[in-house]
Amino acid sequence: MKITRYGEPCPLCCTPLLLDVLQVRSAQSDFPTAERVTGRRCPNCQASRPEQWTEAMQSRYDDA
Ligand SMILES: [Zn+2]
Repeated sequence: MKITRYGEPCPLCCTPLLLDVLQVRSAQSDFPTAERVTGRRCPNCQASRPEQWTEAMQSRYDDA
């Protein structure tokens, strides 16, 4: 199951990032057993300064 929630502040504008989170549930339980962040987004920065955004994400997370 995929959810979206707010994460740490954006390195460029300090607005909370939107995180795409993949939740893994076991067959026996309704509770998530693991979480994986699959993406980080800041609509403002991605729209207004995409190159800076890409650089910031790469230097900060290395896997963007
Ligand atoms: Zn931003």
